[in-house]
Amino acid sequence: MENKQKLSDTLQMKKDNIFDTSDSEKIKKIFDFSEGYKSFLDEAKTERLAVITAISAAKEFGFSEYVPGEKLSPGDKKYFNNRGKSLFIFKIGNEDLAENGMRILAAHIDSPRLDLKQVPLYEESGMAYFKTHYYGGIKKYQWTAIPLSLHGVIVKKDGTEVTVRIGDNPGDPVFYISDLLPHLSQEQNLKPLGTAITGESLNIMVGGLPLKEDGQDGSVKLGVLKILNDAYGITEEDFISAELTCVPAFNARDIGFDRALIGAYGHDDRVCAYPLLRAVFECESEHTVLGVLADKEEIGSLGNTGMQSMVLLDLIHSVSESLGCSPVAVRASSKCLSADVNAAFDPNFKDVYEARNSAMISCGTTMSKYTGARGKSGTSDASAEFVGFVRRIFDMRGVKWQTSELGRVDLGGGGTIAMYIANLNIDTVDLGVPVISMHAPYEVVSKADIYSTYEAFRAFIEC
Ligand code: MN
Ligand code: MN
Repeated sequence: MENKQKLSDTLQMKKDNIFDTSDSEKIKKIFDFSEGYKSFLDEAKTERLAVITAISAAKEFGFSEYVPGEKLSPGDKKYFNNRGKSLFIFKIGNEDLAENGMRILAAHIDSPRLDLKQVPLYEESGMAYFKTHYYGGIKKYQWTAIPLSLHGVIVKKDGTEVTVRIGDNPGDPVFYISDLLPHLSQEQNLKPLGTAITGESLNIMVGGLPLKEDGQDGSVKLGVLKILNDAYGITEEDFISAELTCVPAFNARDIGFDRALIGAYGHDDRVCAYPLLRAVFECESEHTVLGVLADKEEIGSLGNTGMQSMVLLDLIHSVSESLGCSPVAVRASSKCLSADVNAAFDPNFKDVYEARNSAMISCGTTMSKYTGARGKSGTSDASAEFVGFVRRIFDMRGVKWQTSELGRVDLGGGGTIAMYIANLNIDTVDLGVPVISMHAPYEVVSKADIYSTYEAFRAFIEC
């Protein structure tokens, strides 16, 4: 019997619940770490805000702005702000860069949301509305009947820029998209979930007070424009050169009696961005370490702030040259964790998962050797050699982690930025926090998995 137990321990793989196997001291560490994360979430609700928040934290840790072409030396701590929407943060190590490459952690800081159209404002039935075009993969019905906050920038005719942030402070108004009352929903209820709320019905309620002063005609739209003009000096035409977006106006909160979980908007992928920043700030490493916070992941990573752009390539080139190394050699020897979330097994919807290959909540950060869909289409699929390398590092540091793929075969799937980095001849694998209700206005993660991800990142950039 004893022998049988022993064989089982040595030969069979086990998945532990981290809370179950941790002592109270470790659990306290896990909980403490999540407090910083919740504050980060409440500040960094858009990619622009995430960049601002990350830079101010980086400065506290002694990082300064990198000017491409500047001379670098070991020990330098730099950040490169790409158009206020993506950020590169790096520490130059002591070892030979060409031989050892960079240790790269790459997360994204954009999340699904509702962007305003370029001609957004109109009035109907005594109310003013904004037209929207949703950004990223959303289930449209989830975005009705919840409070929304408004964020972004407006570039005025004269080139000056104003920042908008309304709905985060307790005294602020919020914004709202209506849904139909149950009493009149007989027909709506018969529609498939995906079509019951259409993209063109995601119109955001922004006003209801007719403008009557100065002999005006009592237009609600004009009333809203007047308020915006008083506050920001803008006219309707200025919306054309604006990036305004609505996100859920909820702040991050603990979930459950025991507070083991966190509910928030935008865990995907700030739940990897935060541990990434902490790991890069706090690491002690001989390696040159690079943290990437990317934009546009949710819409295909295109554009000059997305990971399909040349920016990462250019940065590696520039850093390599200033250290007298061949950028080609540096890329060939670099290693990357593409830090993105995966779907956590949800017992309410068991049948979409294959349990053995799903990420279980609180069982640690989850590695996905491949992503993609339908026959691994659209994935870089990390090599066994590289997965073996990462696995040895995690074992060495006692990191609790698991492996998973997103849902059952042929059901759906998804991609990350891993493939774009792998395409640069850099060994890359996905690793990140399992999320319940991913892409919903309020997503859920486990505090244990956030901390495990932080430990994994530290191990990867330090070992
Ligand atoms: Mn993601
Ligand atoms: Mn996503």
